[in-house]
Amino acid sequence: MSRLVPLRPDLTGLSGYHSAQVDVQVRLNTNESPLPPPDTWLEELRSELSRVDFNRYPDRDAHALRQALGEFHGVGPEEVFCAKGSNEVLQCLLLAYGGSGRCAALFEPTYALHRHIASLTATEVASIWRAADYSLDLNEADALVERVRPIITFLCSPNNPTGRAEPPEVVTHLLERAPGLVVVDEAYGQFAPTSALDLRQPERRGTSRLVVVRTFSKTWSMAACRLGYLVGDPEVVEACKSVALPYHLDALTQMAGRLALHHVAAMEERVALVKEERDRICTALRELPVETWPSDANFVLFRPLKRSAKQVWNDLLEESVLVRDCSEWRGLSECLRVTVGTATENTRFLAVLRSSLGHASTKEHAQTRKR
Ligand code: PMP
Repeated sequence: MSRLVPLRPDLTGLSGYHSAQVDVQVRLNTNESPLPPPDTWLEELRSELSRVDFNRYPDRDAHALRQALGEFHGVGPEEVFCAKGSNEVLQCLLLAYGGSGRCAALFEPTYALHRHIASLTATEVASIWRAADYSLDLNEADALVERVRPIITFLCSPNNPTGRAEPPEVVTHLLERAPGLVVVDEAYGQFAPTSALDLRQPERRGTSRLVVVRTFSKTWSMAACRLGYLVGDPEVVEACKSVALPYHLDALTQMAGRLALHHVAAMEERVALVKEERDRICTALRELPVETWPSDANFVLFRPLKRSAKQVWNDLLEESVLVRDCSEWRGLSECLRVTVGTATENTRFLAVLRSSLGHASTKEHAQTRKR
């Protein structure tokens, strides 16, 4: 393709990150919360909105938000860095620690943005593949970090798109072997039984290479706000601050996040509902001709066995149900990923899936046809 002006040579062939934004009735493709945030949060936000000095730049350090997040996690504000979604947190980490001549390690298949942002920041990527059950072979992981001495080792827990959380022993093991930062992306952390946050040791302040990244996009039902953060050593927080653009986090997002922390019980209720529904989907999938993997997150990966993933994806879309088509991603051939929706949405997804796989009851089949 001819270009107006040549692109940075190392970006040739790189395309942006896209997930279909199709107008459908049941949207189960981007792992958001199916539920809106609590009304009480919206009321508080409305009443505080009038106090924003719109003519002034926001608090550059997001101090009140970091203080509130620090209290929530039992750490100081100097151990918290906030940004526009956890993607921007990851970008700041790679801007600060990656770059030319440095290497990030990851375990595929995993969240595509780890590799993507590494490329954008000219950071080399070294990776190994997970086993068929998507677990990590620690001997292979040891060999990788020994060979490439990564400045950042990424873990995604629960891993997107495969679903399983890394056991704490795996995180500890990598922290002992990997020379640089161990960044655990816990975008779905609240759905999992364990968190790397519990591995943080207050007495190791000033020397801890463990960084945990979280987001308000999923469990907090606030994907529209774009707010993510990390909990890590104050030195890492300072490094991220030094590469973030001035005033990158607007006043409204800071306020929305701070106020959300007044509604922890409502968030936990939503997490419990999603987990219940996730388990219902997993049980239902086990009755169908699909290969499926256990999930500690708010999504489930599965591989249709009797028909191609594309055919099933199309059948679902025809009935206005959108799931993620991962069938052409390396290591995920013929796989689809469904995000847990509301009970009604999940029931509809399962009915259309059964029908697509020739497993529908007569009633379900008739209902699917009628829509
Ligand atoms: N990490 C993981 C593992 C994700 O799946 C996502 C969202 N797809 C993100 C980070 C980014 O989330 P956000 O930027 O909305 O916080």
